[in-house]
Formats: sequence, structure tokens, C-alpha cells
Amino acid sequence: MSFERLNIAKMHGYSPGEQTDSGNTIKLNTNENPYPPSPEVASALSSIDVDCLRRYPVPMADSFRETASRLHQVSPGNIIPANGSDELLRLAITTFVEAGEVIAVTQPSYSLYPVLAAIQDCKLIEIPLQANWDMPADFFEQLEKSAAKMLLLVNPQAPTGGLLSTDYILQLASSFSGVIVLDEAYVDFVDPELNYDSVSLINSCENLLILRTLSKGYSLAGLRFGYGIGAESLIDPIMFKTRDSYNTDHISQQLANAALKSIEYSKEIWRRIRLDREVLRSSLNELGLVTPASQTNFLLCQVPDSIGAENLYQLLKQGNILVRHFDQDRLRDKLRITVGKESENLALITAIKEILGQL
Ligand SMILES: *Cc1c(COP(=O)(O)O)cnc(C)c1O
Repeated sequence: MSFERLNIAKMHGYSPGEQTDSGNTIKLNTNENPYPPSPEVASALSSIDVDCLRRYPVPMADSFRETASRLHQVSPGNIIPANGSDELLRLAITTFVEAGEVIAVTQPSYSLYPVLAAIQDCKLIEIPLQANWDMPADFFEQLEKSAAKMLLLVNPQAPTGGLLSTDYILQLASSFSGVIVLDEAYVDFVDPELNYDSVSLINSCENLLILRTLSKGYSLAGLRFGYGIGAESLIDPIMFKTRDSYNTDHISQQLANAALKSIEYSKEIWRRIRLDREVLRSSLNELGLVTPASQTNFLLCQVPDSIGAENLYQLLKQGNILVRHFDQDRLRDKLRITVGKESENLALITAIKEILGQL
């Protein structure tokens, strides 16, 4: 006997990447940051008075909103904090898309999106990227034809790593009649020389909701804290109607605030990861694992048929190195590898060389 709603009974849940307790695993499978959170986060944690936990948290995380608004040069009313950006994705769908309406995504994209669409009983339209992972030339037309109410778009893109320009986002937002949820989970790793800046668009694009997370760039995946940036007409209904009144807790508000205030610490880490990303990429390419450029903290490499991606994943796992393999169209012959510390990346390359018989 099942009490589930029909669409819930029919759907499959999200399968997150493996987590492990083992201290000697090199974990390059879930795009976590290999470096610790900033010392300011550690001291904010140690100065939390447990007695404060008797009380409910500040409902709208005012201090965090203030800090985030200063960082992004917007007003606090343009910021909505959430229990991870995953929560905000779900809230955006609940708030703006009715059951039966269409949500558009690219293919491939973040594998949580189809799950969230299924929970809301929405139709999902997947628009394929080109073979080189560029957006299709007629993307705007395909989107228009789909009659989508919402577009969920990762930028820089996942799991492919490419970056759409600010100008492209502006054109897209101007031509699309629905809401664009621009998921910038990896934006911290974008090369600053590219001058990417979507936040400056929120005043002219009332349909643009930008998602940020502290999970990747700020080494705080375990904290569960993300936030949205957008016009107040997008933020307000989520803030005052659809979210839980206390969706972020007292501890995470303090720590998230400390993390943004000590952004200089994280910027140094982002610089390090960008450098290591390029080294890892050229090593993979030298080994014949074709790996396009990435503006994120991961690389998506193609594994030659002679080894097989799933097989390489298993062999690496036997050697205590975890990477991500997706059993999905267009990704089955590839591995997604998080950029780790220099020593971890070297261990990965050594292990692949051993497997290939090149040592
Ligand atoms: C990691 C990730 C998220 C999730 O962020 P949380 O804040 O940890 O919920 C969202 N979108 C994409 C594309 C991600 O890779």
C-alpha cells in the first residue's frame, strides 16, 4: 500500500555522490573544496554561545544579508539566504511553476534538476548542448517553442565546465518570458580576467534569479548554506511566502557571515585551484584523456574505449581514489574529476598512468 502522490510514486530520487568516512581516500567525486574554511569561520564557530540555541534564529538572517548585499553591491532586499542552494532551487520551482507546466534545462546539466521538476509534477524539456558543449545556435528559439515557465541553467556549466558570457545571459534574459534560475555554484573559480558579472544584470532583468552557494568556493558543503540574488519582485514571494520561516539556523548564519567577510582568504584558494586545474588538465590530455577547458573546480574528461570510463572509475576506487562516473547519455564514456590539492592531483595522475601501463 502506498500513500504517495502519483507523481512521487512514479519518480526516482536523486543519487548523490559517494561520501566516505575513510581518512585515506582521495576524494575527487563531489566537487568539494580540498582546503579548510577560513580561520574566521573557525573562530565564529568557537565563539557561539550554546545558550543562544534556546531561541529561534533571526528569521531573515539580517546580518548575513547585510554582508552579502555589501559584497555584491545590491540592497539587502535583493538577497535571500537558504539551507544550501538546493533548497532555493526547490523553492524557486514551488514559487514560480505550477504542476503540469514546463521547466527547461540543458542536456547534460545538474542531475538534481529533473528530480526537482518531477517532485513538482512539471514537464521537463531537455535541450541538448552541441558536441563541443557549446549552447545550440537556436537555443533561444527552442526555449521559446518549449513554452517553458522556468529555465534552470548552471553557469559556469556543469558537468561540462564552460562559461556563458555576461552578454549571453543578458540576451537570454531579455528574450525569455519565464524565470531564469542561474545556478552559479562554481562561479568562484572563474578566471577573473574574463570579467564575468551577472549580478549587475538583476536591475534590468527582473526574471533573473542568481544562485550562490558556500559549499564549493568557501569550503562549507557540510554547513548547508546558499543564497539567491535577484530583483525584489522575485525574492519577496520566496522570502515572505514559500520558504520555512526559519530556513537557516543560528549557527549557519554566523558561519556564513564570517565566510563572506573573510573572502580574501577564499580568493587565494580560488587562485590556487585555478592554477592546479590547468596543470591537471594538461596532464590528463597528455595521457590521452581528452579534457576540455573548465571554469569550475572540476574537469570532465573523455576516457578512451580501450580502458572504459566505468572501468577506470572502478580501478581508481580500488586504489582509494574516488571520481564521479555518470551512467547517463553523453556522459557514460567520461569521468568528472574534482580539482584537489596538488598532491591529490598528482596521486590521481600516477594511478591513471599505472592503470594505463605507462609507469
Ligand atoms: C553543488 C551544486 C549545488 C548545490 O549547492 P548546495 O548549496 O550545496 O545545495 C547546486 N548546483 C550545482 C550545479 C551544484 O554543483
